[in-house]
Amino acid sequence: MVDIKSLNMEELNEFILSLGEKKFRAKQIYEWMHVKLAGSFDEMSNISVALREKLKSECAYTKLEPVQVLTSAVDGTKKYLFQLSDGNVIESVLMRYHHGNSVCISTQAGCRMGCKFCASTLDGLERNLLPSEMLDEIYSIQRDIGERISNIVLMGSGEPLDNYDNVVKFLELISDENGLNISQRNITLSTCGLVPRIYELADRNMQITLAISLHASNDDTRKELMPVARSYSIEEILKACRYFFEKTGRRLTFEYSLVAGVNDNVEGAEALGSLLKGMNCHVNLIPVNPIKERDYKQSDKKAIERFKGKLEKYGMNVTVRREMGRDINGACGQLRKSYKETVGLAEGER
Ligand code: SAH
Repeated sequence: MVDIKSLNMEELNEFILSLGEKKFRAKQIYEWMHVKLAGSFDEMSNISVALREKLKSECAYTKLEPVQVLTSAVDGTKKYLFQLSDGNVIESVLMRYHHGNSVCISTQAGCRMGCKFCASTLDGLERNLLPSEMLDEIYSIQRDIGERISNIVLMGSGEPLDNYDNVVKFLELISDENGLNISQRNITLSTCGLVPRIYELADRNMQITLAISLHASNDDTRKELMPVARSYSIEEILKACRYFFEKTGRRLTFEYSLVAGVNDNVEGAEALGSLLKGMNCHVNLIPVNPIKERDYKQSDKKAIERFKGKLEKYGMNVTVRREMGRDINGACGQLRKSYKETVGLAEGER
């Protein structure tokens, strides 16, 4: 079966021609999928029934089904739990800001990176998401709210650079001027630091923002929190980041989840300040969102302010991430995990 929503214009042209159809049909179908956000071939009213039937027999039409939608009473954040055609579930989050609607998408079902504080990785990786599935996280939400999505962050479950080819294809499709045309400048890709992939991404010269999950200012502490630190040192990551900036001119973001007593001391802030000094970057401090499977604690307000102040002394541009949707299992992978646990339980009882 052809995964039709993952095809770019060129590939779709070729496919439609191979069915013995005229090329302009490809443009119509592309528009149905990527602009009008059709939920099925049957919605494509200017395509003949015969061609629709042919498409149905040759193609899989990716359509995510929401199995649960939670809306935060605090800030209007919406969490969607979507079911994929093979029964896997993934989560996506809509955050409403003054500057527009932002969606946080998952790039994999599960994750194999093993970061200690993260709920997405507790059960390992189920599988990579297809470009069409990542697109449909956004399409489904835009359809649901009837408003344009203007910003995307690849910060849901999964490591985007561990699903490199599909993620790059997704980025091309979502920013395509013939599709939803979301500016690459409004897209942030967050990675735990798969160095060779950062170089590859830089060479593609995409105008996206790269966010690096650093979470420590020395390799030993980083290894405690993130197994991936055994493969790549902070120095190697920063070198790749400088290359990314040289190639793209895009300012980098460094994410730093503050865990009480682990990485939130003043010495750490000083070390981070001197590591990043002179780099065109922005530091985003994330008070760790505790998950029940681990006993990591959030740094208190004073520690956060002290950490921030130290970094600012080094001339850093620092923000503290506002917690959104705390009342609805806000942290990465928590909703999916709790859903899987309840469904698993129900099945076990039968
Ligand atoms: N795999 C990507 C995307 C992960 S999620 C990456 O590693 O960057 C986006 C960010 O949230 C990452 O910085 C991740 O380390 C962080 N994160 C995950 N779980 C968290 C938690 N419970 N509390 C705080 N930050 C968390």
